[in-house]
Amino acid sequence: MVEELVIESYNPWEMALAQFDHAAQYLDLKAGIYEMMRHPKRELTVSFPVQMDDDSVEIFTGYRVHHSTARGPTKGGIRYSSGVTLDEVRALAMWMTWKVAVANLPFGGAKGGVICNPKELSESELENLTRRYATEISLLMSPEGDIPAPDMGTGPQTMAWIMDTYSMHRGHSEPAVVTGKPIEIGGSLGRLEATGRGVLVVAQEAADYLDMALAGASVAVQGFGNVGSVSARLLQEAGARVVAVSDSRGGINDPGGLDIPGVIQHKKETGSVVGFGNAEGVTNAELLELPVDILAPAAMENQINEANAPYIQAKLIVEGANGPTTPEADAVLTERGCFVVPDILANAGGVTVSYFEWVQGLQYFFWSENEINKQLHQIMCQSFADVVDIMHQHEADGIDMRTAAYILGISRVNQATLLRGIYP
Ligand code: GLU
Repeated sequence: MVEELVIESYNPWEMALAQFDHAAQYLDLKAGIYEMMRHPKRELTVSFPVQMDDDSVEIFTGYRVHHSTARGPTKGGIRYSSGVTLDEVRALAMWMTWKVAVANLPFGGAKGGVICNPKELSESELENLTRRYATEISLLMSPEGDIPAPDMGTGPQTMAWIMDTYSMHRGHSEPAVVTGKPIEIGGSLGRLEATGRGVLVVAQEAADYLDMALAGASVAVQGFGNVGSVSARLLQEAGARVVAVSDSRGGINDPGGLDIPGVIQHKKETGSVVGFGNAEGVTNAELLELPVDILAPAAMENQINEANAPYIQAKLIVEGANGPTTPEADAVLTERGCFVVPDILANAGGVTVSYFEWVQGLQYFFWSENEINKQLHQIMCQSFADVVDIMHQHEADGIDMRTAAYILGISRVNQATLLRGIYP
């Protein structure tokens, strides 16, 4: 019985296409534009050598995919993970297209990835890998054409190496070629926290919409990287009771509420949230099914699927990760009255402050953290309201928030494509 429910055929690109098709049925897209949107504009696969510490040379494979350039230069992170595939990068690139369109940023969608386990590489091996990958994808990357950022397994240091490598080839500094850089070399105040802060803003908006009080609400957060840890901390500061968090090694649960700054410190010292204080251990799978008000999947794709969707107890899901919920699970959750704020809206805070960082880099003029957070708040609230509007316009169809967000994102890309026309 249980085996039948295991999703063996999960493919993120097929999932992205299924989500797109589901929303496209509510739009009157021209056949050619529909097909265009189902095809990434360009894809680059690179195999490249990296000098390892033991003097050997290893070959790594990486990708950079541009899904759409209809609304502007392409934007999207670079992922380092042993599970990276071209189909995953394609899906993540398409999700970026809809995400930046929902937030109404003047960008198209892209994503990159390298098949590697960054935890098994030394600092110098990571630097060698990053600098060589940056050189390989510099065919596609530029401040005016395609601007990478951090994603799973990468961070500010990775962006500093990419920025430096690109700049060395140009003969002058090009800070606007990447976002998510350290502040000292042109990064934006507030960027490190931005995705988690955006999660907080939409959680607050969704709670208001559902007439649920965020203060006192119980929360479980899956994933304790940049997105999960900041989301957990800010949700707790806003008065929510964060009862469970997890990382790749497992999770912890304390129904009375966890001390999140303490958990962050524990993870810094030990490398994991596991073993913190007197909290009980939970698995990542168990965490998703805890009796909480709000669930924030902030780890990776395919976590909420048809096998566990019937057992999810949260009333509100806020997707910090990209693609955590499969279309099959969406159908089950909607039927069970669970309100899902989709990834392309919920985690758009990161790319929104990336946009601010890019603009600041291009104009060599920098804003205060207050100004950044105020503008971020405004864009997240506006995007949330725009998506709710679409949901209400389609009241008769009974669409969920993901479908509404897709309708908004796809229509904006469609309008841009129609205005620009088909060349030649
Ligand atoms: N990797 C992040 C995302 O999935 C941020 C992308 C960016 O800032 O360009 O949205």
